[in-house]
Amino acid sequence: MDDRYSRHTRFSKIGQSGQEKIREKHVLLIGAGALGSSCAEMLVRAGIGRLTIVDRDYVEWSNLQRQQLYTEVDAENQIPKAIAAKTRLSEINRDVIIHERLEETNAATIEEQITGADLIIDATDNFETRMLINDAAQKWRIPWIYGACTGSHGLTYTIIPGETPCLACLLGKIPSGGDTCDTAGIISPSVQMVTAHQVSEAFKILVEDFDALRKKVVFFDLWHNQYTSLKVERLKNPECLSCSPEASYPYLDARLSSKTAVLCGRDTVQIRPLPGVSIDRNRLKSKLSQLTSKIRSNEYLLQVEIEDTRMVIFKDNRVLIHGTKDINKAKALYNRYISG
Ligand SMILES: [Zn+2]
Repeated sequence: MDDRYSRHTRFSKIGQSGQEKIREKHVLLIGAGALGSSCAEMLVRAGIGRLTIVDRDYVEWSNLQRQQLYTEVDAENQIPKAIAAKTRLSEINRDVIIHERLEETNAATIEEQITGADLIIDATDNFETRMLINDAAQKWRIPWIYGACTGSHGLTYTIIPGETPCLACLLGKIPSGGDTCDTAGIISPSVQMVTAHQVSEAFKILVEDFDALRKKVVFFDLWHNQYTSLKVERLKNPECLSCSPEASYPYLDARLSSKTAVLCGRDTVQIRPLPGVSIDRNRLKSKLSQLTSKIRSNEYLLQVEIEDTRMVIFKDNRVLIHGTKDINKAKALYNRYISG
């Protein structure tokens, strides 16, 4: 076992004491898609003490090209990513404590998710969640590392509360539009390039070598051979609602987060039930099986194909309606088949 981390301890910037610090730390990873898979594998191999993985989705065939933790069996069985990731990661390093959370990160869940975390790594695919992470990180003074990629390009930035400009300082408000993996495609080296930066920064934070942190936003395009880093220190906004002394953390206000949303770049609408509403999946399954034979379920979710759409009902009562971007249509289907 002593040999296990020898290549880390021989690396002078980590050493024995750095490795012991890594062992004591808890990282919260939000998202277990491509960025999340790659970060999680590196952190678990590095011997992180605890890793909490939050993800709301399950493994699909189109994920396998780049989401390195998952297998064909996971896609065939529609295993939730948080569960499949934990299974694979526990085979890689049994000493790491892994908490899997099959749920969303939203204003109602984030406080519990970040409890005890020394660092947050962003592996999401949308700015709504990133702004929420940004506010939570500022409020509870936890460093976080932003990462994003589509096509052949990517972007990453390390945010230290009280020191660096925050994401709201840089962006102002949630940007609209833009490419996503689903519209622009992606090559897996873009993922690995972002996570190489994210996890290097994570190691510096975990071993408490803060002076070594990169203060710049990094942008690259692997196909067009571009690599740029931008100084952003001067963008710190003294009146920022997320990081100034007068911060009100607007994205942590649950009233502002939408209950129903079209998922980023996908032909999918997600419906979150009202608080207190719970769906009895067994009863629903027997009801719907009278209408269609295209019904499947596992321990975590129930899937039914009906009216040219595919509905997936999760344990936490969220429903994904695949095959439409029309919120009204999705709500009508939900009312007709699920809540009715
Ligand atoms: Zn700010």
